[in-house]
Amino acid sequence: MKHVIQILLFTPFILFAQDQDRKIEFPDIPGYLTLVADLHQHTVFSDGSVWPDIRVREAIFDGVDVISLTEHIEYQPHKEDIPHPDRNRSYEVAREYAEGKDLIVINGAEITRSMPPGHANAIFITDANKLILDDPVEVFREAKRQGAFTFWNHPNWTAQRKNGISQLTDMHRQLISEELLDGIEVVNETTYSDEALTIAQDNGLTVMATSDIHGLVDWLFKIPDGGHRPVTLIFAKQRTESSIKEALEAGRTVAWYKNNLIGNADNIQPLIESSLKLREAKYRQNTEVLRVVINNNSDARFLLRNLSDFTFHENSDLVEVLPQGETAIQVKTRTILKNPELSFEVLNATIAPGKHPTLKYNIEVEQ
Ligand SMILES: [Zn+2]
Ligand SMILES: [Zn+2]
Repeated sequence: MKHVIQILLFTPFILFAQDQDRKIEFPDIPGYLTLVADLHQHTVFSDGSVWPDIRVREAIFDGVDVISLTEHIEYQPHKEDIPHPDRNRSYEVAREYAEGKDLIVINGAEITRSMPPGHANAIFITDANKLILDDPVEVFREAKRQGAFTFWNHPNWTAQRKNGISQLTDMHRQLISEELLDGIEVVNETTYSDEALTIAQDNGLTVMATSDIHGLVDWLFKIPDGGHRPVTLIFAKQRTESSIKEALEAGRTVAWYKNNLIGNADNIQPLIESSLKLREAKYRQNTEVLRVVINNNSDARFLLRNLSDFTFHENSDLVEVLPQGETAIQVKTRTILKNPELSFEVLNATIAPGKHPTLKYNIEVEQ
């Protein structure tokens, strides 16, 4: 009997925890919805290990809003066992399975070439079969004829770049100058590239982060231990395919990877400001110590470094603000101030290699 009661008591909690904790959640920013995207994934229709329905279910578990199953065009290791002359089938199967569910599936494919140009994804395509072409530049032209958004995959991949350094070639420069290449993966699977971030910023390419998952998301990204897959946060006007494409083309993205937010300052700043709000600012009774509560309504575990002249009563210069939680700090302002200013360097966000954004609060002290 005791066992039965325990099971009844604990089961709902476990279900709740599994359901809620793994969902990737960030607040909307002024003027835009924040959508969660994983636009580079594989199934048995190329070199992945699962049927497309598993990708749909994983995405729904993770609170992902939009996915693309980007099967390799030129690499088909399961073809003998799973013949599929129509290269759009992976997309169609996933889309059928996602019908009536809260997930957008877009058609995509991975152009799989040696370096240059290496691998690239074309998404929002209308027919993957037409991308079976010899000329590596012609493939991008065909993708563009279909209205694709294209991005360079894992430019830091050590199989194609022994030193792991992302580097443009003449062919990439040609693709960029002919407007055939729109984005670049700064994060792929379990790797990050500062050099790719620089290439993105120097050439106006959209910052992307993807899982490039072949096996199971739970295993690779250690979801049971609190991990998360890398995703691209997209700031879109609406939750539609055309709005998502417009946002990608306009470069309104942030990479979310191993608790790091990576991207252009214009995109990172409003996301951080929407995530971390001051909830309370009041002097402790009979003291000159100001108690400030910072509320975090995002999944990021923020690590803030004090940049102000004040010192803190409980913390060193480092303050951690837990995901979907709040942190109180006690600021020693030395005298009672009406509008003290606090500023922090946000260490878990990157706006250029080695550069972190600044978060400022002009505090209105409650009387
Ligand atoms: Zn690849
Ligand atoms: Zn891939």
